[in-house]
Amino acid sequence: MKLERTKQDYGTNPLKVRDTNHYQAEYIQSFVEKWDELIDWDGRAQSEGDFFMQLLEEHGARKVLDVATGTGFHSVQLLRAGFEVTSADGNPVMLAKAFENARRNEKILRTVQADWRWLNRDVHDYYDAVICLGNSFTHLHDENDRRKALAEFYATLRHDGILILDQRNYDAILDHQIAPTHNYYYCGENVRAQPEHVDDTLARFRYEFPGDHVFHLNMFPLRKEYTRRLLHEVGFQRVTTYGDFKETYRDEEPDFFIHVAEKS
Ligand code: SAM
Repeated sequence: MKLERTKQDYGTNPLKVRDTNHYQAEYIQSFVEKWDELIDWDGRAQSEGDFFMQLLEEHGARKVLDVATGTGFHSVQLLRAGFEVTSADGNPVMLAKAFENARRNEKILRTVQADWRWLNRDVHDYYDAVICLGNSFTHLHDENDRRKALAEFYATLRHDGILILDQRNYDAILDHQIAPTHNYYYCGENVRAQPEHVDDTLARFRYEFPGDHVFHLNMFPLRKEYTRRLLHEVGFQRVTTYGDFKETYRDEEPDFFIHVAEKS
């Protein structure tokens, strides 16, 4: 019988774990099962509205690659809205959950298990848009991995394609040691998500669920201007940054930034 791990393994010194490959050990079955309590699909759909769909439509995008499918929220939303979607993720547990969630919503996901750093080894098609949402890019702890992943996203886009990539507002956390208050992504009512440790190369967040279920994620705290610079450096011509689904924002306020990077 295969034994399933119910606790994440961060070893004896969790603050030392700053490894791009570690996402596989973080998204274990028991955490993945809780993920939808954390993100609460209905609450999220309400706060996002049709922000992403409008962006895609403005750019004439119909064929979309969701590279951070997770449990499938955006893939399912986009399929429902009539987009053609391929759903990729490096973590097989997440992909299986996404497939199950889509089935419950009467949709069949076209899934590909692929690590971003070698995306084009497994994805052999071109897309109008790549989406990397839900603060996923933060899982890359090494600058080479970030460059490699962005180059792979760039390569799978058609000549006029766009990348939509979001990130938590780490500037506010790093500069003021505060976590912005509003919760657009993590909307679950009984779930507490908070930073437990923050330094220049690590943001360790704690996720607490009813019944004393506690999980962590060790992430790289991306600064907004740094991400924008990387996007330009891999070849994107124009990068527009939104705050919490709005174009006008004051730097310290938003919880999330959403970058739209245009290839031409
Ligand atoms: N987009 C989903 C959402 O908003 O609910 C999931 C977000 S979750 C924070 C991050 C996802 O990125 C996980 O499903 C994880 O497996 C995936 N991921 C992290 N690093 C990855 C990598 N190097 N290659 C492929 N997928 C990765």
